[in-house]
Amino acid sequence: MQHAVNPWVAFAYLVAGVCFILALRGLSSPTTSQRGNRFGMIGMAIAVVTTLVTHVPTITVLVEGADYAALLSAIDTVAVFEIVAAIALGAAIGLTTARRIAMTAMPQLVAAFHSLVGLAAVLVAAAAYLNPVAFGIALPLLTPDGAVALINPVSRVEMGLGVAIGAITFSGSVIAFLKLNGNMGGKPILLPARHVINLGVLAASVALVGYFTLDQSPWVFWTITILSFAIGFLLIVPIGGADMPVVVSMLNSYSGWAAAAMGFTLHNSAMIITGALVGSSGAILSYIMCRAMNRSFISVIAGGFGAEASAGGAGGTKTDRPWKRGSAEDAAFLMSQAEQVIIVPGYGMAVAQAQHVLREMGDKLKAQGVRVKYAIHPVAGRMPGHMNVLLAEANVPYDEVFELEDINSEFAQTDVAFVIGANDVTNPAAKTDKTSPIYGMPVLDVEKAKTVLFVKRSMGGLGYAGVDNDVFYRDNTMMLLADAKKMVEDIVKALD
Ligand code: NDP
Repeated sequence: MQHAVNPWVAFAYLVAGVCFILALRGLSSPTTSQRGNRFGMIGMAIAVVTTLVTHVPTITVLVEGADYAALLSAIDTVAVFEIVAAIALGAAIGLTTARRIAMTAMPQLVAAFHSLVGLAAVLVAAAAYLNPVAFGIALPLLTPDGAVALINPVSRVEMGLGVAIGAITFSGSVIAFLKLNGNMGGKPILLPARHVINLGVLAASVALVGYFTLDQSPWVFWTITILSFAIGFLLIVPIGGADMPVVVSMLNSYSGWAAAAMGFTLHNSAMIITGALVGSSGAILSYIMCRAMNRSFISVIAGGFGAEASAGGAGGTKTDRPWKRGSAEDAAFLMSQAEQVIIVPGYGMAVAQAQHVLREMGDKLKAQGVRVKYAIHPVAGRMPGHMNVLLAEANVPYDEVFELEDINSEFAQTDVAFVIGANDVTNPAAKTDKTSPIYGMPVLDVEKAKTVLFVKRSMGGLGYAGVDNDVFYRDNTMMLLADAKKMVEDIVKALD
């Protein structure tokens, strides 16, 4: 068998690939991110239009004695309307969702989108398996019973990997969605002997993908699919709250590899390039986040290895210790007297959409001669870069925004740490309590500041990991209990 690829199509896909690389480059900094997005859109438009106009396969199957080309063009002509209708439907759903989605629901939306990529990979692999002739991956031979065309063994490996990665991505992303959306608790669910089960299921799937090259019977294909759905479930269920950010970026990476595997099945180089870019950048991001969280990359991708230590952690129990309550006027007074204030934003700031009024508060303090800085924890909020995006949206100057490792040593010399809707990322239990689910994660040392002003709605609300925070009860902490936006508005008024 031989494939002939139209050079113009190959060129167009190459240009799209370059656009995607430029998009990633642009997205690496907030100042160039819009340009990066534009490159991404142009690349995707080129890829989609090229695929559409050349939907009559650019790969011609040349098999002696077989008139597959005629068959293929007949199939594709029928499919044009369906393809355009599917794109229109998908675009309408995507546009409506993007317009309506709340910023705080982005992580679960991303998980839901990853699940769709996984499902698409499974469906493409299934379609190719059921109709290998239409996908140009059939050998000029029939199975011994003469019923179906034999599939090229190399394509069987691609298809086996594609369906496996796709199914893992799908079921893993569905569990991640349920956890992020609050339909499932954030605590790790640890099955007994899960490492043995995980390894067994994984080994069986790998062996079956190999066996698939020898035997293309339906039971082999569907067993790979079912086992892989099970792996996705088994891998994500034991992952606890604090490790979810890594899982989200890991599933992002899996969805890329699933798309790349699909690209091989479809002989589509744009999909291979894009899938590999998403796969590798997601893997790099997962690695960086693991390092930031002081987690072992292997442990997290192997499904919560090491989660035992934290699973039974007593962190969830709330204590009845005395604490101090303050008002907006108290906070305004303390901050206006300070030399330096470090603002620590977290998920609650995003929920309250308090970023604009927070910037206003920062401006007023600066006008009164106070030095204002923002400290960003790598997993603050519910998605990578969540806080950076919100602060950028509110036009907070980039040079006032610092990453954890660049600012953590400054808390000890700071008058006021203003924690707004952050909780887990400030919890000292991560440094001291080995039974805590967040143990080992670097945290912002807010308690070292002279005064900590802690904005949250109630003493009852715990952070994502569901653990109490010792900072609430410290002598130098003043709790400002209210919705973050309302509290900061009141502080701004008091500053006036
Ligand atoms: P947390 O979820 O730990 O804490 C949020 C705090 O905000 C709570 O104390 C809550 O208390 C308060 N809050 C909620 N709504 C409001 C509101 N309207 N006004 C004022 N306060 C409010 O957030 P952090 O940012 O500190 O930590 C992020 C956590 O999320 C980490 O555990 C991280 O692992 C996890 N995570 C992060 C992801 C990422 O990629 N960044 C992805 C998935 C999970 P109260 O209810 O009392 O108001």
